[in-house]
Amino acid sequence: MGLIDGYVYKVAIYEVYAGRQVRASEKTSVVEKVVRRFPVDFTTIEHHDEYADLLNSMIVVGGHQVVEYKRERFLLLHVPNSIGPDRTILLKAEITEQLIELCGRLLAIYANQVQLHDNKERDLLTRLPNRQSFDLRLFQVCEYFHEYQLKGTMQDKGSWIAMLDIDHFKVVNDSFGHLYGDEVLLHFSQIMEKSFRYNDFLFRFGGEEFVVILNLVDMASARDVFDRFRETIAQFNFPTVGRVTVSIGVTHIDSHALPASLLDHADKALYHAKGQGRNQVVFYEDMDIELSTKDDSDIELF
Ligand code: GH3
Ligand code: MG
Ligand code: MG
Repeated sequence: MGLIDGYVYKVAIYEVYAGRQVRASEKTSVVEKVVRRFPVDFTTIEHHDEYADLLNSMIVVGGHQVVEYKRERFLLLHVPNSIGPDRTILLKAEITEQLIELCGRLLAIYANQVQLHDNKERDLLTRLPNRQSFDLRLFQVCEYFHEYQLKGTMQDKGSWIAMLDIDHFKVVNDSFGHLYGDEVLLHFSQIMEKSFRYNDFLFRFGGEEFVVILNLVDMASARDVFDRFRETIAQFNFPTVGRVTVSIGVTHIDSHALPASLLDHADKALYHAKGQGRNQVVFYEDMDIELSTKDDSDIELF
């Protein structure tokens, strides 16, 4: 293959969430399309991206496509994907046959990588990122705060980690069967995707447990967001199963936090929410009264 003549001025990758239906027969499930720039920069509220508008306004097909937008030509390379979001690569370039051919070859390799990646990092039932991708992401977020936010306080716009655990889920399985239990998990994950912002990170941690890393909000907003989500779940009419509630334990990601202790704190707050009657949000930072027992895991008892 010879050298490519001409120029590539801009390359951007997008994740395309085409909106999945829970059941093909369900009339209420609206197929929504969300396009977001990849990788997500959780440290800034994304400014308007005009190319996302372009992708939103058109039907992108698999393979390559040359489109004109605002008097400029773009080469779009699209990877349909059954596990995670589709990916679209946008190139602003001098488009030649040679460039198209080269990109076609690279696209085949990239499509393979996307499949491998999503297979490994996503949960096959809900399609949310799994525990493994959570570990990596939490490490990245902690590292960021360690490096740049040494003076970060809870009043600032910081990050929060929440453990979400569906209440009495065993009863759902026992009463309706495992398949209906799975359907609740699927609806639950879809409500999560609708409730949080593009720059928050959502995971299925395992079983009926989910994790949210909420970014760029102060404590008051974090309270509002999680309480609204709790309420949305409590109000949702799950098909066949009816009402389901969730308990949520939250903690602040501060600059010296270690991933393991953050999880432990969110877990303690969750445990507290369960103990207080479930269907509640508890912040670890509010658990003053139990200060003596808050860190009881650090105390060795002999
Ligand atoms: P609590 O309010 O204390 O959280 O009660 P719980 O019943 O939700 O908690 P418990 O940990 O006792 O039970 C969790 C249940 O979740 C048990 C298990 O059968 C069910 N479960 C875990 N993973 C899955 C899954 O992938 N699908 C289904 N349908 N059920 C699952
Ligand atoms: Mg559980
Ligand atoms: Mg549970």
